[in-house]
Amino acid sequence: MGILVQKFGGTSVSTPEARGHVVRHIDRERQQHDLVVVVSAMGRSGDPYATDSLLALTGESGQLTARERDMLLCCGEIISAVTLCSLLQGQGIESTVLTGGQAGIVTDHHYGQAKIIDMQTAAVLKHLQQGKVVIVAGFQGRTDTGEWTTLGRGGSDTSATALGAALQAVRADIYTDVSGILTADPRFVENARPLTHVGYAEMCNMARQGAKVIHPRAVEIAAQANLPLRVRSTFSEDEGTLVSGPLQASAAVQDRHVTGIAHVGGITQLSVQARDQESDMQLQVFQAMAKHGISVDFINVTPSGAVYTVFDSDAAQALALLRGIGYDPQAVHSCAKVSVIGGGMNGVPGIMASIVEALTLSGITILQSADSNSTIWVLVREEDMVPALRALHAKFELHLP
Ligand code: ADP
Ligand code: ASP
Ligand code: MG
Repeated sequence: MGILVQKFGGTSVSTPEARGHVVRHIDRERQQHDLVVVVSAMGRSGDPYATDSLLALTGESGQLTARERDMLLCCGEIISAVTLCSLLQGQGIESTVLTGGQAGIVTDHHYGQAKIIDMQTAAVLKHLQQGKVVIVAGFQGRTDTGEWTTLGRGGSDTSATALGAALQAVRADIYTDVSGILTADPRFVENARPLTHVGYAEMCNMARQGAKVIHPRAVEIAAQANLPLRVRSTFSEDEGTLVSGPLQASAAVQDRHVTGIAHVGGITQLSVQARDQESDMQLQVFQAMAKHGISVDFINVTPSGAVYTVFDSDAAQALALLRGIGYDPQAVHSCAKVSVIGGGMNGVPGIMASIVEALTLSGITILQSADSNSTIWVLVREEDMVPALRALHAKFELHLP
């Protein structure tokens, strides 16, 4: 029997009914596989043991260090894992719970955003050999000195693919509250359609551009190990979307130009003009951002100035820094980056023309654009984001099978 990793996200373990579906998927797959089950904390913001609810416990004025915050957050996944274990045992399914650290996920010391540096699989393998379902608390690891760390928000996906890669699993199944990877976020595009297959590179792009159905780091790890993923719904038997290398893709998938549309909001566009005769303006601007840890994106540099974006949450600091070094920056707050993604768009003429046509006919102003061989990004005002997603989705006929 090969090893299969199953990961259940927050909404998949949030209610007794949802947990009943989880038990069903485990019971089905354990007939054919040795099972490692990764769980997220139960529910979303407002639910008692969800990650955001644990964060809220310490309040705005709380004086928690990053180390202790990670200890608090780890509890959410542990509660979820133990709850599931008791359900499985109640059904006569032998199982055991491991924290991320006990499961051998070793990370660096970067609390809140720790990176996995080693995977020690002995403990998981020992329990699997004893015929148990191994339940691992997601989103967490331990440092080489035994401190508890978390892997960044959405990090249970990363736990799952890291375990899958290290254990040479046949696949990692990511169970969630939608039927798979869709052509756009169904919360904003009602007729978004589930995709049968998405390549690793496309999936990485979609995830990095805001499709939070799976964490980009999780996809990178799967791609490196050539570990197939299935993203599927906890609440149905449908097989969902296969995420894998291009070899497994059908001709129809390989031929498609646009695969999906993703979005990220909460962005500010900054424009800075060079002063007369100034030759090192770009250097000064980007050094100032880097020195203060402000992440920049959508960078457009010309001899006379620079246009780029920062998160809205960093905008006030970025503006103050620019003024501090003598510039008079312009800012457009509350923008969104909308990305059209497709592994097959490289060298295909007319994609940008279609984007411009769809947005122009909808009365949407493109504030900035950029492209790579598999993605075209446009920056729009946040109030135009949903109309832009819908217009582009319709233009590329992504709702059609
Ligand atoms: P989980 O708790 O299972 O990890 P998440 O909330 O992290 O679930 O991710 C699932 C959500 O991702 C969906 O509810 C959906 O709104 C959102 N999402 C964004 N883009 C996409 C997309 N392209 N396909 C599917 N879901 C998407
Ligand atoms: N519970 C964590 C979060 O909300 C990790 C996860 O769900 O993947 O970010
Ligand atoms: Mg998630």
